[in-house]
Amino acid sequence: MEPKDLIHVTPYELWVLAEAWESKARSAEEEVAQLAARHDAELLAKPFTGIRGCGDHSCLIEKPEGLGTNGGCRCHNDRTKASIIVQRLANLRRQAEME
Ligand SMILES: [Zn+2]
Repeated sequence: MEPKDLIHVTPYELWVLAEAWESKARSAEEEVAQLAARHDAELLAKPFTGIRGCGDHSCLIEKPEGLGTNGGCRCHNDRTKASIIVQRLANLRRQAEME
């Protein structure tokens, strides 16, 4: 329906149209929220996704294949890795607050 055609509709038809637009907008909003929640759930299931290990055999994030160092995982000292994980947790909390 073109905007100029709206002049000829009855108030009832206008109300029906508005209801349809509103429900379309509502379902789009719900879809976005669901996608965001699913994305965060995936991150929560794998909070270390995309973060590389330190190459130590006892690495908490990713054990090296083949050669590696001994002496303990050093990942907890890496500020970059820590900030990524903190950011992911903050996103999850924001998501939870919006629900
Ligand atoms: Zn490590």
